[in-house]
Amino acid sequence: MNDDLKRTPMSMLDKEERIHNFNEVELGYTKEEAIKEANRCLQCKIPMCMKGCPVGHKIPEWIKAIKEDRLEDAYKIISEVSSLPAICGRVCPQEQQCEKMCVRGLKGEAIAIGALERYVADNVERSLEYLKKEPNGKKIAIVGSGPSGITCATDLAREGFDVTIYEALHRPGGVLAWGIPEFRLPNKIVDKEINLVEKLGIKIIYDTIVGKTISLESIIKDYDAVYIANGANKPKFMDIPGNEANGVYSANELLIRVNLMDGMLDESRTPIKVPKICYVIGGGNVAMDAARTIRRFGSETHIMYRRTHEELPALGDETIQAEEEGIIFDYLTTPIKILKDENNKVIGMECIKYELGEKGEDGRMSIKEIPNSNYNVNCDQVIYAISSEALNIATRDSDILHLKNGLIFANENETSIENVYAGGDTVTGPMTVIKAMEAGRKTAKKIIENLK
Ligand SMILES: Cc1cc2nc3c(=O)[nH]c(=O)nc-3n(C[C@H](O)[C@H](O)[C@H](O)COP(=O)(O)OP(=O)(O)OC[C@H]3O[C@@H](n4cnc5c(N)ncnc54)[C@H](O)[C@@H]3O)c2cc1C
Ligand code: SF4
Repeated sequence: MNDDLKRTPMSMLDKEERIHNFNEVELGYTKEEAIKEANRCLQCKIPMCMKGCPVGHKIPEWIKAIKEDRLEDAYKIISEVSSLPAICGRVCPQEQQCEKMCVRGLKGEAIAIGALERYVADNVERSLEYLKKEPNGKKIAIVGSGPSGITCATDLAREGFDVTIYEALHRPGGVLAWGIPEFRLPNKIVDKEINLVEKLGIKIIYDTIVGKTISLESIIKDYDAVYIANGANKPKFMDIPGNEANGVYSANELLIRVNLMDGMLDESRTPIKVPKICYVIGGGNVAMDAARTIRRFGSETHIMYRRTHEELPALGDETIQAEEEGIIFDYLTTPIKILKDENNKVIGMECIKYELGEKGEDGRMSIKEIPNSNYNVNCDQVIYAISSEALNIATRDSDILHLKNGLIFANENETSIENVYAGGDTVTGPMTVIKAMEAGRKTAKKIIENLK
């Protein structure tokens, strides 16, 4: 037993070095570090950590296996509930879920559950094929290969269903591939994870936009059940003057160009226009990812957020790393106008200051404008990262599904049509990887029960 109140630190790339490249920042545990950290786990009789996990990981069981250096066993226990451990270990908000509940956190630091999950996934020879049952003759279509679609597909393929995923892009993974940058989640990790699930016989049909290339109705007709998991990735912009200026982008556009189109390379067909001074508006993971991406081009980079450091919705580690990388945080501030020159290029923003008010019913601090606090900042690029909504091309020409505020309305993932299910961000709005996976798992369970 390791009584250390502090968790075992993980090696990271040096902050001076990493802002010049897109290499992964966190380097993972060595065997000695993982066993040392696993030895901090109390193997609680009532493991609170499990109560915090949306997919029901048997956390103490696989931590015990790590402790005893039985990595294959640890992997098998993890695989019972998750086919994406290398991804979850890296990007799940453990600090708000399993680690938040861990009793070691009451006096000291919680067990580094995410880092241990990642250690298992990165260090074991993996295969899921041993889990596959005989084909049962039932055909399922899934719209979207993000974490929700992939999880549902995996659970169904394991049970012998013939699963086809229709994916709009030329590659799988959804936000995992185009959104989360290489320095947090390398695309080769996403590819490796998805290759493993494809070996279960899952077919992915790329470059196919359901609702455009092929209609939702035809898919519904051709399959025994359909799961719609097409995410919510239409970026939102503030309704302020100047949005049309050259140099105003969404974080999604920036991240897609860099992650999928090599926008960081001069020879790219769609290179990034490198700003001198960039302001990213927002305070969540998307804002951090966009700011940290721009910072790697050498630009002075600011994050402008309406509330304070304490209310930032981004993961704690990401915020710390962004600060280390030299990103400047402008708190209690919002733009009210984007300033442009006669050539329609961004030259700055007019901003106002806020102060915090009372805590609202949603638990968030309210904000009040400070009168006459207007001031201008100089910049040549503004990137919005203030949330997104469902685009729903898949359903826009279809009057067969009920929509609610642009999202698909589903009751426990069941839509208004029999055997058509929906889940993940397209139902909840932007959430997290693990919540999307949870929806995929629950839907697979329902499909299995309903098609028995
Ligand atoms: C930049 C960024 C960083 C994030 N960081 C984190 C993080 O650190 N931790 C975390 O837990 N969460 C994070 N999130 C949120 C998380 O990634 C999402 O909640 C999650 O990916 C949602 O999964 P999904 O499967 O529902 O949708 P998505 O991942 O959006 O996948 C939807 C898929 O459907 C496809 N599609 C869309 N329309 C169609 C159509 N008409 N036909 C066919 N295919 C279609 C898309 O191309 C995509 O592949 C982040 C999000 C972003 C944008
Ligand atoms: S709550 Fe923490 S200490 Fe207890 S079993 Fe879970 S990870 Fe181990």
